[in-house]
Amino acid sequence: MAPAHAEEVTAIAARVAGDDGKTRFVADLTRPVSYSVYVLPNPYRVMIDLPGVAFDLGPGSSGSGLGLVSAYRFGPLGKDRSRIVIDTTGPVLIAKSFLVKPEDGQPARLVVDLVKTDEKTFRMAHEADTAARPQVPAEPEADDTVQTATAMPLPVPKPGTEAPPTAAERPAPAKRADGKRVIVIDPGHGGIDPGAIGIRRTKEKDVVLAFSRALKDKLGANKNYEVILTRDDDTFLSLKQRVKVARQNQADLFIAVHADTVRGASVRGATLYTVSEKASDAEAEALAQKENRADIIGGMDLGTENEEVTDILIELAQRETKNHSIFFAKKAATQLQLVTHMTGKPTRSAGFVVLKAPDVPSVLLELGYLSNKADEALLVSPKWQAQVTEAMAKAIDTYFATEIAARQ
Ligand SMILES: [Zn+2]
Repeated sequence: MAPAHAEEVTAIAARVAGDDGKTRFVADLTRPVSYSVYVLPNPYRVMIDLPGVAFDLGPGSSGSGLGLVSAYRFGPLGKDRSRIVIDTTGPVLIAKSFLVKPEDGQPARLVVDLVKTDEKTFRMAHEADTAARPQVPAEPEADDTVQTATAMPLPVPKPGTEAPPTAAERPAPAKRADGKRVIVIDPGHGGIDPGAIGIRRTKEKDVVLAFSRALKDKLGANKNYEVILTRDDDTFLSLKQRVKVARQNQADLFIAVHADTVRGASVRGATLYTVSEKASDAEAEALAQKENRADIIGGMDLGTENEEVTDILIELAQRETKNHSIFFAKKAATQLQLVTHMTGKPTRSAGFVVLKAPDVPSVLLELGYLSNKADEALLVSPKWQAQVTEAMAKAIDTYFATEIAARQ
């Protein structure tokens, strides 16, 4: 929790009061700010959008709910924006919201009153809200064409079988004029979305950022690579924005970095995932669903983002991209199993939204399980981090070197 800049507005406390019929949410701020408040369905939430506000909430502000509020969370949302997300127990209406000016030594207060409503009234309020509210995307969204992968049966090669690469497996020639390979590393979650939380309260968003930075440093030594992080601080990015970073930079490889939790405390090890329409197994499916929820946690309105694209050229590009992705996942699994625990099935596939750039080979690396004591200890160990980033760097080198080998 960084100390606030002199001019920065800081939220210093938050609390919930009331009952199942009417509930009040209050945030104390060092000075008044402009804000907008609105509801979102699936699941029912109330969003409070703020300018860049620092959060330094006292121990009394646990984020746990009361009355109509089941929980709330808060954090930065890109540059100069912040958000408070209030999860509600069911459909609610915003009865009123107002700002109280600081007075008599009291801080400014942002007050939101919620009342219980029915599904139909909620829907009408949401529609009116959506129509009235100016759409403020987190980034200018000029190129909004993140295509949805279309169904295509795909053979998943057995890991460890090292046949000479086929044309489809060979990485495509570098897209940049200077021949540099662009590698985009995507630390999962961030800001308002902590991701998984470990037994010792280790946050996924923190360990994956530390790992991604270390991997970038390791790869940065190679002048043939340009390495880009989708986020280099504790901010929230939507899944679409992450995909966009990869596409806009014409990435040759996209690596999403995550760490999971599961019910079974003994489950541990790393796994590499690629995208597929049909999940390789039930656990992969469950994980993809969980990771895809990041946008809901960050409060994105997903109402209009499910267009299917069935262009034959996109299908072809996707097929080749998928083959490259699987090829890289195998290379990475081969290197990783030399230095760390792997799950029983180290390469799997499922419908991860973040891996769906049709033209960028993409993998999602789950480093391990924060629900496992041993894995959690490894994930924060600098020695383990050095070994695993080294192994990933080797896999990346081998992957791109394959193209040169195939030409000889
Ligand atoms: Zn994750």
